[in-house]
Amino acid sequence: MSPLKQSIFLLLAMWPALAWAQRLPQGVVPEHYDLTFSPDLTKATFTGEETIDVKLAARTTSVTLNATELEIQEASITQGDKTQAPKAQFHPEKEQVTLAVDDAFEPGPAVIRIKFRGILNDKLRGFYLAKTRLRNYAVTQFESTDARRAFPSFDEPALKAKFDVTLIIDRDDTAISNGYIKADVSGPGPDKHTVKFSTTPPMSTYLVAMAVGDFQCSEGSADNIPIRVCGTPDKKSLHAAALRYAEEILKYYNQYYGVPYPFKKLDIVGAPDFEAGAMENTGAIFYRESLLFIDDNNSSVKEHQLVFEVLAHEMAHQWFGDLVTMKWWDNIWLNEGFATWMALKPSQSLHPEWNAALDAVTELNDALTVDSLRNTHPIRSKAETPEEINELFDRISYQKGAAVLRMVESYLSPEVFRRGVNAYLRKFSYANASAEDFWSSMTLASGGLPVNRIMPTFVDQAGQPLVSVKTSCTAPPAVSAPARKSRRSRRAVKPHPKTEIAVSQQRFWSDGAPTGNRELWVIPVCVKAEGTKPFCQIFSQPAQTLPIAGCSSWVFTNANASGYYRTQYDSASLQHLSSVAATELTTSERISLLNDESALLGPGKESVARYLELVGALSRDAERTVAESYSLQLRQINDRLLTESNQAAFRSWIRTTFSPMFAKIGWAPVPGESDDLHLLRSGLIALLGGVGRDEEVVRRSVELARQYVKDAHAMDPSIAGEVLKVAAQTNDASLFEGYQTALRDPARTPEVISNVSTAMAEFTEPQLVSRWLEIASAPETRNQDSPGYFARSLRNADAQKVAWPWIKEHWSQVESKLTMTSGVEIVAATGGFCTVEMRDDVQKFFSEHRVPSSERTLKQSLERINACIGYRERQQTNLNGWLAQHAATVTSGRR
Ligand SMILES: [Zn+2]
Repeated sequence: MSPLKQSIFLLLAMWPALAWAQRLPQGVVPEHYDLTFSPDLTKATFTGEETIDVKLAARTTSVTLNATELEIQEASITQGDKTQAPKAQFHPEKEQVTLAVDDAFEPGPAVIRIKFRGILNDKLRGFYLAKTRLRNYAVTQFESTDARRAFPSFDEPALKAKFDVTLIIDRDDTAISNGYIKADVSGPGPDKHTVKFSTTPPMSTYLVAMAVGDFQCSEGSADNIPIRVCGTPDKKSLHAAALRYAEEILKYYNQYYGVPYPFKKLDIVGAPDFEAGAMENTGAIFYRESLLFIDDNNSSVKEHQLVFEVLAHEMAHQWFGDLVTMKWWDNIWLNEGFATWMALKPSQSLHPEWNAALDAVTELNDALTVDSLRNTHPIRSKAETPEEINELFDRISYQKGAAVLRMVESYLSPEVFRRGVNAYLRKFSYANASAEDFWSSMTLASGGLPVNRIMPTFVDQAGQPLVSVKTSCTAPPAVSAPARKSRRSRRAVKPHPKTEIAVSQQRFWSDGAPTGNRELWVIPVCVKAEGTKPFCQIFSQPAQTLPIAGCSSWVFTNANASGYYRTQYDSASLQHLSSVAATELTTSERISLLNDESALLGPGKESVARYLELVGALSRDAERTVAESYSLQLRQINDRLLTESNQAAFRSWIRTTFSPMFAKIGWAPVPGESDDLHLLRSGLIALLGGVGRDEEVVRRSVELARQYVKDAHAMDPSIAGEVLKVAAQTNDASLFEGYQTALRDPARTPEVISNVSTAMAEFTEPQLVSRWLEIASAPETRNQDSPGYFARSLRNADAQKVAWPWIKEHWSQVESKLTMTSGVEIVAATGGFCTVEMRDDVQKFFSEHRVPSSERTLKQSLERINACIGYRERQQTNLNGWLAQHAATVTSGRR
């Protein structure tokens, strides 16, 4: 499953609050399901019939399946020529139903037949109702534990079976499922037709998919696999980019995995309402429209990259997840970490212009950031209930899982890693595997390198190591003068200088307070230094010395920026490294250095003054990802450390530092310029307009925004998102109305809607904030969108003072817009608050208004608020001092 890029926390909640499903009793193994559904899209109900072929391991008088919100109308169990009608007893707390008979069945095959009915709900889970302005659709989303809302089933990932799906639907409707359509006949009755899909290979229940309604598709193929992109008829003109990318990716994966695409066709379907980002159902990937449908000729580079990478994520799952599935949800990272890691591979290979390798460093930073909280969890964590299972769909499973895989790949070499992946896939095809199976395959493929020692320390231990580095030279580099007198004496005193890198590891916490934890990681530390070939060494002790020949003037201990750890250099080492960072470090390594220095600010292990010096030294670096990495911290300083007295000086420093770079690239793209430059331009507009409040940038943004809401072709699509946000900061009511009109225009593409809705949260004038929140909670705003709209207003440091009281006051209205897992996004957004009063208020409010499955997220939010308060206390004076000194330089520089 792919969460929304901007809000990974979206996936964390559950309904209903009292769901305590546990594992099914062992002893009944399903082999094949024959499923027939008749959905009624007007009444929002469905009826179903199923025949499940099972194997009984022991003599038994009962069979237990998962089922919830279903009514069983008829049931029978047959063995040989004996059929019994069981009594059905529901266990709502476990989301199970037990079918009990009087005479025991013997071990061996049996057949369960059940007729049932259910509702097409509006919570975007199970079999649900999706709506457009014109009509209703029926769509499924089953991961993790919601197949049981559509049909009684053995709803656990290890209980794989084959599926035959039949859909009885309205005469003019179409249907999509995992298999291809093998028969389509009229009836029953004059108004229906019956669509039968081909038998699937063995697969888990959470991957079953159905979609019914008026879908139109564009057809293509790759390596003889038919590929279709499908959506509501109004989106037909927006299929081209996704179809082209899907063809490219399928060919790439066939080659990379060494196992050809294992399913007979691939449909990629944009659903009108979809809670997550996308879902990797076997052979039928379902999507949120905004991540799939873009205008091929007039979309931003970012959108192209997003469509490509989400597709690459979901398609990676067809092998990793669908073909080979984790045994249980505690190993969900095997699915999600792998797909997140894999998604960047085809991007790097087929679209090097997007520099996806640099995005990997950003992903690494995202993972390290959340993993430095006390309320983090190990990648592999116990999860028994739906609530616990859904809580694992977070940055730890996705981004940390991916980062740890990337570290191991970098250590083993990409080719060895690939051989391990291929062997693992071949061994566990159509079956289930555990983390141990994965790293055993890797250890074997590498000829015995200690992958099985490295990985458990990162997978089963929460948190991350902080590698502290102190370098010294053990002998003077120069030979003394008398020694030069003769060959002989020179030989006698030759000093053999060497650099000693003293490293130590301890757990890194965002708040900096020690806890006495004694975790140790087995870390492949990769070193880069002057005059030495980069090398990796296993670092598994609390402290160790890594010697290198020669006296190096600088040392960098995360070569290739792929290690899952933070680094803290002693003052002298950092100074030396900073002075050569622009020339000796790769772009990825510079970003990693900046990210680590930024992370050290929170716990006070680094000063904001030194950080700003480093940014100043690297600010001529016109790499957009480098700029992106410091923009984030500069925005934090802007939102959290500025006061009335230092605001002007900081903003002036921003303008002085970044205007020259922007002046060089200008507002308009030059024909043939790189995609990175497009993105850098957008980042600089955000920095200069949003943080530096540069008058000219703001003026021009307003002008462009006014044109854009009338005609989206009026502006380079790559800057539109940021320009709209900068313009919104003027709080101009007529601009607000222009945005509102564009938002409600059904002819606008999902990209325009997304740009406009994101910018609406940037208005900070109290009346406009309230008007935006009213729009967010209005009936015509889709349930899939509302939670994100609320969350963005809460994340805006200037709008949150109005947004938070409004949301509390209108909670019942807000709550009515929440789908099954989306409420937690609002809880997560409050983590951006930064005062004691607001922290206590958040705690009080959510203890009185429980949001399902947000327990860990709420703890993380409170912790993040505390961390922000600490950051402010530690760094504000520091910033004031630096600005006082620096403002003088800025002023004199202008003269
Ligand atoms: Zn996924």
